[in-house]
Amino acid sequence: MSVQVFGLPVSRGVAIGRAVLVASSRVDVAHYFVEPHQIREEITRLGVARDLVCSELESLKQEVQGDTPAELVALLDVHVMLLNDDVLASATCQWIEERHYNAEWAVAAQLDALTRQFDEMEDDYLRERKSDVEQVAERLLQALARADRACMPPILRHGAVSTQGDETPLVLVANDISPADMMQFKGSVFRGFVTEVGGRTSHTAIVARSLDIPAVVGAREASRLVHQDDWVIIDGDAGIVIVDPSPMVLEEYRFRQRQGQLERDRLARLRGRPAVTLDGHRVELLANIELPGDTPAALEAGAEGVGLFRSEFLFMNRAGELPDEHEQYEAYRVAVQSMRGLPVTIRTIDIGADKPLDRMSVNELKHDHTLNPALGLRAIRWSLADPDMFEGQLRAILRAAVHGPVRLLVPMISHPNEIRATLEAVERARITLVAEGTPHGVVTLGAMIEVPAAALMLPRFLRHFDFVSIGTNDLIQYTLAIDRADEAVAHLYDPWHPAVLALIANTIRMAQAAGKGVSVCGEMAGDPEFTEVLLSFGLRSFSMHPTQLPTIKQRILRTEMAALAGLAERVLDADDPKQAGLSPVRKTNVVAQAA
Ligand code: PEP
Ligand code: MG
Repeated sequence: MSVQVFGLPVSRGVAIGRAVLVASSRVDVAHYFVEPHQIREEITRLGVARDLVCSELESLKQEVQGDTPAELVALLDVHVMLLNDDVLASATCQWIEERHYNAEWAVAAQLDALTRQFDEMEDDYLRERKSDVEQVAERLLQALARADRACMPPILRHGAVSTQGDETPLVLVANDISPADMMQFKGSVFRGFVTEVGGRTSHTAIVARSLDIPAVVGAREASRLVHQDDWVIIDGDAGIVIVDPSPMVLEEYRFRQRQGQLERDRLARLRGRPAVTLDGHRVELLANIELPGDTPAALEAGAEGVGLFRSEFLFMNRAGELPDEHEQYEAYRVAVQSMRGLPVTIRTIDIGADKPLDRMSVNELKHDHTLNPALGLRAIRWSLADPDMFEGQLRAILRAAVHGPVRLLVPMISHPNEIRATLEAVERARITLVAEGTPHGVVTLGAMIEVPAAALMLPRFLRHFDFVSIGTNDLIQYTLAIDRADEAVAHLYDPWHPAVLALIANTIRMAQAAGKGVSVCGEMAGDPEFTEVLLSFGLRSFSMHPTQLPTIKQRILRTEMAALAGLAERVLDADDPKQAGLSPVRKTNVVAQAA
């Protein structure tokens, strides 16, 4: 029977595929397809790992004999039994034989299927046996990793290709996925994502959008209603997940998929055109990137520079060891050089809140000891609390500026003391480079405006910085006291809130009056619903994911600034700014389309 699960639309488009259900802790297990001729070999790998675990358990049993309680010995027996039981042994092989999954993926898939069966059991005793199966499966995964680490493909091997005759597309359904894990899905086998937690501007959602893969977050019952291998449609525009769709619904969505592709192809033709309104107002369109490897996509989309390089993604998943100055310098150098003379805005590390250093997901973070991670040691606070780390990053950025224009952007500053401390840190880094004779370049200095305190004392920022960049994702979160990663309050996260719009409009107006650069690099910049309103506020520099850039450019090309006269005032005065902000959009488009 077909069912629908409702969530939040975070990344546009339609994905159709078979569901792969993954517990968050197992998202980072290698997922790739094996060639038909490798199936035997893969089953042998699994067999070797099973033998390894069996002998480990046997020797453990020998070690614990004597005064060990009989229950413990019996438990080890149970684990050996489970290891060889058909529900684990044969069924896992079946995933390899029938679906061509690699051994790790097959173990994880079977474990998820069994976990679900255990959860549905009435009997408490039997239900608790779930942890035994989990322990055995974890041992198997560890043994697989140990057995042939050298020839194992990297986690979630990029560009892995289905070798099944019909190339069955797959979509991933998980309780939650950390931003770092999401990053690894670039070029992976998955065509779409569904998570049960998360908000529209959570970093997991932002990464999904940057990958341009349809995604729905906050689909609360997804793991319960979707079964392993079910056919699923992910409607990333409406935030709906359709499980086991009827042939008619499938056909409708396939049609929409084709339409979406045609639209993307059409928009791609705007690449070389500058973003100029119908009446000649020039607008700068910049790209948001996570890693230096994203710059080709930025150029391909026609970006005129990088408006936000979220450098924290270089720091994630490092198992405790952070990138040193040299490694960072190399990464920044590659980004700067590959943008071929266009400006690159490198934001200093913004770790914390829903972007932890390790691969903890939002859900795990909620159970972490930090009560309010979004209000905790985050972004510039984190940097200033670790002066050595900060100095290393500042030096790396200044050194990279030798290779092209670099703008240095500081996240989440909210206190005058932080302005002072940041400027001193930059100066210290520069002085040490001068003293050593290390080549370095000149950078322009910018501050992100993403805390109301910063927006309210903007003149101070404008005295000390060359430009400001409005981080609307956080500005909304902190103005409205809504955790952007929490789906429970997602309906209250409102970019149209009058207070938010007033802060944005004032920031743009005051920065321009002071002759300082101002751009918006939060998600509002890439949302066509806000293009006209931001233009009417005077904004002329937008930074967004490369995938969003063609849509925004088209919007600008169809806009006549004269038709937006009075829009800013109407929106800022309105009781319902959304209503006031959206009506002229329709009018402008009708005029443009008729032209
Ligand atoms: C923002 O807050 O709008 C922003 C661009 O920064 P991030 O999304 O990385 O917090
Ligand atoms: Mg931010």
